[in-house]
This record gives sequence, C-alpha cells and structure tokens, in this order.
Amino acid sequence: MRASRLLNRTLFDDPADAELKSHKLLARGGYIRKVGAGLYTYGPLMWRTLRKISAIVREEMDRAGAQEVLLPILQPMEFWEESGRADTYLKAGIMFHLKDRKGGGLCLGPTAEEMITDLLRGTVDSYKQLPITAYQISNKYRDEFRPRFGLMRGREFIMKDAYSFDADDAGLDASYGAMREAYVRIFQRCGLKFVVVEADSGAIGGSRSEEFMVTAEAGEDALLTCPHCGYGANVERAESVLPPGESGGSPLPMRNESTPGITTVAALSEFFKLAPSRMVKTVLFEATYKNKVQALAVLMRGDLDAHPVKVQNAAGAIALEMASDDLVRKVTGAEPGYAGPIGLKDTRILADLSVQGMTNFLCGANQTDRHLLDVNWERDVPLPKFADMRAARAGETCVRCKTGQLQGLRGIEVGHVFKLGTKYSDAMKALFTAADGKRRPFVMGCYGIGVSRIAAAAVEQNHDDKGIIWPDPMAPFTVALIPLGYRKSEAVKGAAEKLYAELAASGVEVFLDDRDERAGVLLADQELIGIPHRVVIGERGLKEGMVEYQHRRDAQATKLPAAEAATQVAGRIAHGKGAAS
Ligand code: ATP
Ligand code: MG
Repeated sequence: MRASRLLNRTLFDDPADAELKSHKLLARGGYIRKVGAGLYTYGPLMWRTLRKISAIVREEMDRAGAQEVLLPILQPMEFWEESGRADTYLKAGIMFHLKDRKGGGLCLGPTAEEMITDLLRGTVDSYKQLPITAYQISNKYRDEFRPRFGLMRGREFIMKDAYSFDADDAGLDASYGAMREAYVRIFQRCGLKFVVVEADSGAIGGSRSEEFMVTAEAGEDALLTCPHCGYGANVERAESVLPPGESGGSPLPMRNESTPGITTVAALSEFFKLAPSRMVKTVLFEATYKNKVQALAVLMRGDLDAHPVKVQNAAGAIALEMASDDLVRKVTGAEPGYAGPIGLKDTRILADLSVQGMTNFLCGANQTDRHLLDVNWERDVPLPKFADMRAARAGETCVRCKTGQLQGLRGIEVGHVFKLGTKYSDAMKALFTAADGKRRPFVMGCYGIGVSRIAAAAVEQNHDDKGIIWPDPMAPFTVALIPLGYRKSEAVKGAAEKLYAELAASGVEVFLDDRDERAGVLLADQELIGIPHRVVIGERGLKEGMVEYQHRRDAQATKLPAAEAATQVAGRIAHGKGAAS
C-alpha cells in the first residue's frame, strides 16, 4: 500500500469526548470516525486490523470444530418473547427495537441465542447429530447507557458469538473446554496479555462462566487474583475469606440512643467507641423485578461493602439503583443516615452472610438522630434471608486456597464463555431424541468475543506518548518504509521501491510512505498509526549502502545493509519481535 493512495487522514488533536487512550489514538490515527454516540465508521486501516483479528478468531473456531453461520441481525421480537428475555432487555433499555410497516415487532440483535436455538430445533432431531458448535462474526447492537469509549463500548460493534449444543452435561463440559482452549489460543496469537477469571453470568443466565480479560490500567472491570493458587474472579463475583470481626458477646437488652447528626460508620465508631465490625449497616436500593419495583434493604457488616451485582443476583432483580433520598425517607420515616432493619415500610430485606450470628450489634433506628444498640437476631429482628453480597477486596485471604492474599488488577473483558444449560432450549422447546428414545432439550453453551473491542484493548496495552504500537498479528501493515525525499532523490526512490517489491514478494504486508511531506511528518504519522516495524531510507545512508531499521519499541535505529534489508527485516518479523511484550 502506498500512503499517497490511502483513504486516511491523521489528526493533530484528540477528539473532545475521548477519555481512553485507545479512543484518542484510533481517532487521531484515522482508524475510526465518529458518526454518532457509540457509532463509528471504520477506515481502511481499521478494517485491515479488524479483519486480521477476525481471521485469527475464525481459524481457531474452525480448528476447534465450530461451524460458521450467519444469523439475522434484524430479529422478530416473537423469538425473544418465546425465550422470555424480551421483558428484561426492553426494561433494561439495552435493546434497539422497532416496528415494521405491518406493526410487527423487531429488534437489532444484541446477541443471538434465540436465532441459533431456532436453527437447531429446525435442523437437529437426534443425539446422533450432536455435538454441534456454530459461530458467526457479525455486528451486534446495544443501546449502551454510556457509549463513550470508542470501540471499547460501541452501540454497534463486532462480536464473534458461538453456541454449543450437546446431549448432556458431560457433552457440554467437553464443548465448553474446547471453546475455552480456543480462546486461550486466540488471545495468545493476538499478542495480548490476559487473564481468565470467574465471572457473573449476567442477563444471559446460566451456571458457570469465565471472562477473558486483557489487563490494562484503563480496564472497566475490577479483578481479584490469588498469586498463590491462581484463583481469579471479577469483583462482581469474587469471594474471599470473611475478614474476622469483633465478637459481640452474649445478648444484652436493646437500647435506643440519641446520635444527633451522626450517620456514618466512622462517626458512629468514634461516638460509641465501637468497632465497625460490631455494626450492621442498612443499604437501601430500588430494585426492579419482572412485575414490580420495590425498595430493597441490604444488611451488611459495618466494615464491609455490598457489591451491586451480587445484590442484584441475590434479589433476582433485573435492575438495581441506589435508593433516592425521597425513597429512603418514605420507607424509614426518617432522614437518610438512620435506616435500620426494624420497622421498614414496604421494603424487602436481605442480609449478607457477614452479619449472620452477630450479637449486640448497632444499627439505625429508622428515626432521625437515633441508633439502636445491642440488637440481636430473632429477639429484635426476624431472621432475614442470608446471601453473599459482600464485595471481596484486595489483601483479603483467597477463598480457594485459604493461603494467598488477593491482589487487585484491572481488565478489559474481551471474551466470555458461559454454560447455559437448558434455559433457552426449554423455553423455546428445542428438543432432540436422546439415546433412550426420550425427547430432551439441548444442553447449551455460549461463547462471545468482542472483535472490535480487542483492537481497542490492544491499543490500551500497547502504546506510548507518540501513538499506537500494534502487536504484529493485528497491525494493519507490518512494515512501514519511510523514504526521506522520495520525490527529490532518484536513489532514495529506487531503493525504497526495490525494498517495497522485495518485502511484498516475500509475503510481508508493507506500507510505503511516498508522500511529499517533511521527514518529521512522515515519522510522526508512522508512530501514531503504530506500524510496528519501520525502515528509513535516506540519501546519506544509501551512500554507505545502508538503511535504518527500528522497531516501534526500540529506543534506537539499527543500520542494515540496503542490499540485505528485505531478508533481514523479514527475518525479524518471522522471529515475532514485538508480537507479545
Ligand atoms: P460488558 O460487561 O462489557 O457490557 P457484556 O458482558 O455485556 O459486556 P457479553 O454479552 O458477554 O458482553 O458479550 C460478549 C463480548 O462482546 C464481551 O466479552 C465484549 O468483549 C464484547 N462487547 C460487549 N458489549 C460491547 C460493546 N458495547 N462494545 C464493544 N464490545 C462489546
Ligand atoms: Mg460478558
């Protein structure tokens, strides 16, 4: 490719709305052009990179025995009603939906479980045809709450989604294992640093799920990993050994004390000289369920915090928000800061495991400026339902090995594998005849990869002040040739054209910057665009028969004999320099 012919323009300024480095650099490099919130046009450079990522994904899916299909993006809502998800997706506001000229409901698929389950129920009758894993690479649509991170969180984005169908759980284990293995290979081949963590199953539902996380400071997800045993989990799901708390001793009579203006755990601890672990805080939420909206109180030990995703799961809610001050006043009859489990109106109560068995604890009195002390379960508060809703924290003891201390890190979710079970096949009556002659629902798994998000994640992990540093496997071009004075010096032009032809002939994807620009502009553009290998061809070097090679990560250039440059550069690429770092 010649730069003079490339449909691209690099920009000097970051887009005003860009927060993430990947968003800024991809926009400035001309890779993406915003047309609306979370909607981007991909230029030729971007599309080359996305095709490379897709090619790796495709190869590994095919190698794992998955078959490529293409499912409709425009999907009739009746399938979503059949699976029982229409409500959840519509209420969560994440689904783009519309009506056709006859009034029929349609949506732009945020994912495709319904479409694939329909294909299987119409195509596979017998266990003899199983297992089947099918996948597609296509656009997905989600009306994201905050579509502002460039390709990281688009409203239109490219996803690879795969679905496995088995006769039983053992089959699902094998299909899940094969996909998991393929995922490891995909992210390794992309040249990314990543971890695999236990994940929450979210709105898609199902039993086991794991996420593939590209590690990066800017990652939206908080993760905890154990350096001792390798346990890793998204904080949405992570568990830890409960940190020990102070014991409350044997039950004393309950007291109602004046606590004027004292509302925080820290202030109460100071006021009563009482350890936070002797307190039960009452955190109020507004929970949305399939058929109602209701206040929800979560009881948590004073020194610990609830994780909203765990709370939502424990409650079985489809959405959760912190209660507004007005709602707090309505259900407690007091100003915010004095909520407690005794006497809440129209409120469902759930308690964290950490408060189970506590005695003589402090909690709010549901009266302004008052708290209760020496409160005890059953005698004063009916036993609520207990569940794990506590956010595990770095430094706490690993729940698996009981030895290591959890470490915190941040990640970008690039892949997600789920064991779905029979949720969709049951709901959509997708049945096959099993070996014993009985009709049974398919046992399903689903497996997603954010193809366009991978590109953004790669940039987050691989950049410097000057621009992108693509890992070789996803770079739009592998080598940039930068002739200094292409239009002024026949020698330079000749050497550049020769090298261009030689590299191209040996299968290297080479980019020749033949524009009539100053050297500074050519070099800055190559650094911004992030082509990992470059060769600078100048008149002075050529007089000694030399050109200059530099990897995008190298501090200095290396001189190479011009006559051998093609072979030597091709050799460096073959050795994978700059693939993973
Ligand atoms: P997130 O938690 O980031 O919203 P998700 O868990 O809802 O993602 P999945 O339904 O698991 O996403 O989708 C599979 C993959 O698609 C994700 O692992 C992610 O890489 C990618 N993905 C999801 N939403 C987006 C988006 N809005 N833009 C780009 N990629 C996305
Ligand atoms: Mg996910």
